Amino acid sequence: MSGDKKPPVIIENSGVDLREPVERIMSSLAPDSFSGANVLIKPNMVGPSEPGLGHTTHPDLVRAVVRACLDRNASVIVGDNPGGISRSSRNVANATGILDASEDCFHPISEQVVEKKGIETGFPMVISKSVLDADYIINLPKFKTHTLMMVTGAIKNTYGYIAGACKAKLHLQAPNKKDFAKTICDIYQLRPPDLHIMDAITAIEGNGPCHGGMLREVGKILGSTDPLALDAVMAQMMGVEPSDLPVQKEAAIRGLGSMKSYEIEVAGLLEQIPNFRMPVTFYHEHLDNETIEKLQKLYPPGMMLSRTKIIPLQNVEKCALCGDCVLSCPTEALTIEPEFSISDKCIACYCCVELCPEGALEVPDVEAYRHY
Ligand code: SF4
Ligand code: SF4
Repeated sequence: MSGDKKPPVIIENSGVDLREPVERIMSSLAPDSFSGANVLIKPNMVGPSEPGLGHTTHPDLVRAVVRACLDRNASVIVGDNPGGISRSSRNVANATGILDASEDCFHPISEQVVEKKGIETGFPMVISKSVLDADYIINLPKFKTHTLMMVTGAIKNTYGYIAGACKAKLHLQAPNKKDFAKTICDIYQLRPPDLHIMDAITAIEGNGPCHGGMLREVGKILGSTDPLALDAVMAQMMGVEPSDLPVQKEAAIRGLGSMKSYEIEVAGLLEQIPNFRMPVTFYHEHLDNETIEKLQKLYPPGMMLSRTKIIPLQNVEKCALCGDCVLSCPTEALTIEPEFSISDKCIACYCCVELCPEGALEVPDVEAYRHY
């Protein structure tokens, strides 16, 4: 690879009108014309959250990318598989503003699926056929934190290729971070996107990727054809080492892109965001046993299942007893009848936290961790 020209990571200010920065990224990194080719635009549509919550790709970014593709004579579809086994992707697209932004190009990609096998894990993976049928894929990840995998970003966003109940099954098959990172890289490798345009307009920091996180205005969009370089730049902006992030570490081992700063050409202003907060789960992995024992004593018994597992807590006031958390738990550790409880079968995957529509579950922000 030495001597090869690496693709740049382009950092643009988002500004008022996203069409201009999107056009600058596309004119550098995408074809001038798609000549009628099938282009799949894949936003992050994790759940039915309104756009202002920052959980999902900003509809203005989707709109600008759709327009740029139509202008390049593409046959466009916009789609993603939301989290949760029973969610209609059209309903989620509607709630997030993505349906309206898609200019009649939205397609419920969960309806036709194909089973594939992970290249390294060998796990069966049920993915949307539209992913495999696409001639060109534009990935639109969010710049945000994630309590299980520390960040979402470009590579992790391809988890949305997976349809329905298969997502929960994969959590069960890969219950620890290292194996789950391998699973995500396997999914990515089923069909690597051709271009990534990251929504860093409003980021999520702290215990993301959804209700547990906090909004942070960043005002950028980032583009690259190298997902790992893009994720590494996101990590630098967050103030963390990309090699401390499980998916990115695994992707580097597999040679899926460049992660070292000296290998990455950045076009635009790369600045670290001051005091950006990572998830609490990011900090405790680096603590020694003595400190962990000290912290365990500070919190209610059972809150820390083990050295690295903090179990979710319920906010009774917010709970609407919808049962989504029970359905989304891959290990059947969670019950709400006769009362809310989580058994020691919990693998701390935080699917229940991510998918609770009311934000009634949280990874307790054991604040003391942040001071070590
Ligand atoms: S905690 Fe959330 S997902 Fe679970 S029942 Fe309550 S509202 Fe529904
Ligand atoms: S209780 Fe929540 S965090 Fe624990 S395994 Fe179930 S879904 Fe995952």
